[in-house]
Amino acid sequence: MTARIIDGKAIASELRARVAGEVARVKREAGLTPGLAVVLVGNDPASEVYVRSKHTQTQGAGMASFEHRLPAGVAQADLLALIASLNRDANVHGILVQLPLPKSLDAETIINAIDPAKDVDGLHPNNAGRLAGGFSALSPCTPLGCIILTKSVHASLEGMNAIVIGRSNLVGRPLVQLLLHENATVTIAHSRSRDLAQLTARSDLVYAAVGKAELVRGDWIKPGATVIDVGINRLALADGKTRLAGDVAFAEAVKVAGAITPVPGGVGPMTVACLLVNTLRAACAIHGLPKPSV
Ligand code: NAP
Repeated sequence: MTARIIDGKAIASELRARVAGEVARVKREAGLTPGLAVVLVGNDPASEVYVRSKHTQTQGAGMASFEHRLPAGVAQADLLALIASLNRDANVHGILVQLPLPKSLDAETIINAIDPAKDVDGLHPNNAGRLAGGFSALSPCTPLGCIILTKSVHASLEGMNAIVIGRSNLVGRPLVQLLLHENATVTIAHSRSRDLAQLTARSDLVYAAVGKAELVRGDWIKPGATVIDVGINRLALADGKTRLAGDVAFAEAVKVAGAITPVPGGVGPMTVACLLVNTLRAACAIHGLPKPSV
């Protein structure tokens, strides 16, 4: 048996097209152009790539994109002043501070300074708390993407056994909350969990968000399970080149799973597409418009 490959690129492209349609509608009907501000501190090469892609895709969906680049040595007070001005700016409906931040800055203080109504990364404690309480909230983009990918395979996740490996605020924890919302039965595993292989083997849905290349082996996977691989790891090859690898040993797992995401081309493209969804949702909520149908 070979698993169905979940095409994150195609699903993200379709989602971006739906967002663009809704953006055109709110522009036409309410005169509203949703706007996303991205703040990049320093010049980490991976962050540069992400920020460029966010900018292009935001504009591609018909939204306004504002980029703010600050030097790595920026004073925390200056970054907080920029966030305060973006909080007040009526053209900005989403604010994203690209992580990781340089060590000289306190990420928690910075994130807490973002207006929760504009917190399109879903990391502000108000949004994290609302999500954990089962209330409507702006949810982190990568977990949202994971749910959409899973639902491309299963119309309903109700009663399914899911395992989320990783408990970060960015991925694992919010993903658990979204799965509970879908009425899945969720196990959350982390670096201190015992018998990870056995816990995984009883799961219909496997989410790997660890940051350890190919940790999850093929013989851990229940036959027919759906596997969503969040990990992005760069592996050094013998010839001096590198290749991207997920947290799942894809070549093994693809022979056992029912459906699986590739790396790259699985979860990655969904993250930015869901950022556009969150920006559109935030803009509509701020302006008292009905929730858009994306
Ligand atoms: P993180 O903050 O480093 O969290 C990693 C989690 O994995 C922690 O909860 C840790 O447990 C757990 N863990 C570490 N070693 C483990 C092990 N041997 N067995 C079980 N659990 C273990 O990472 P993150 O931000 O969640 O990101 C995870 C991965 O996803 C990374 O590869 C990252 O690059 C990728 N990512 C991809 C996207 C995307 O758009 N595709 C977005 C975000 C992240 P403890 O809590 O016990 O330390």
